Amino acid sequence: MPQPIVELERVEKVYHGAHSGVAALRDVSWSIDPGDFVALMGPSGCGKSTLLHVIGAMDRVTSGIVRVDGRNLSQLDDTELTLLRRRQVGFVFQFFNLLPTMTVAENIALPLLMDGEPRSQALACARKLADRVGLTARLRHYPAELSGGEMQRAAVARAVVHRPRLVLADEPTGSLDSENGRQVLTLITELNRELDVTILLATHDHDVAKATNQQVTMRDGRLQLPSPNAS
Ligand code: ADP
Repeated sequence: MPQPIVELERVEKVYHGAHSGVAALRDVSWSIDPGDFVALMGPSGCGKSTLLHVIGAMDRVTSGIVRVDGRNLSQLDDTELTLLRRRQVGFVFQFFNLLPTMTVAENIALPLLMDGEPRSQALACARKLADRVGLTARLRHYPAELSGGEMQRAAVARAVVHRPRLVLADEPTGSLDSENGRQVLTLITELNRELDVTILLATHDHDVAKATNQQVTMRDGRLQLPSPNAS
């Protein structure tokens, strides 16, 4: 058996407010194998984004263990967490999160530029991926000049340009019309296979979840048992 890319042991996350705490994750134990394409389902507020944030080293757990690629995130300092986030993980957000003052090429190249890759090399990688996601004609454009579908394809390219082991996608089709949503989902599905990258995709949409190999549901911060996809 390969080592899981993600392992969670009895993870709890409590957000502390002025007067009380919100338990966003309760006793979550789970593992994801390398190369899996998993849908994390459940209604708004059930804890999907929180789970993605703690796996992506964007937030710390209250208790329990999160391991990514065998590394216990609680034992890493802030610099190590930043490097892990930058090198091992790619993120796709519902509202794209492209930088408005950068071109499409620079946005796609961003993870490589942030990691110190020479600009010419980083942009060459970005051009290749832009070609793969059908954005060659848009390389010099700014995000505001793109359609929603194009912006999300650029964001997907940015999420994999540094060849991360894991991509975390939070409602990646949630702000797109059905045709563009379908295209982005197809692209994510193809990249999962082509790059052998593990993908954890949060969605409340059952049709989106059907594109994945495994669906897991959350309710009130608790994970329910996975049901393998019949197809
Ligand atoms: P989902 O992604 O499934 O919509 P979230 O993970 O965003 O769910 O939220 C889970 C719960 O945690 C909700 O009750 C939400 O209000 C709460 N929550 C999320 N982020 C914060 C925060 N930064 N501070 C306080 N409560 C939060």
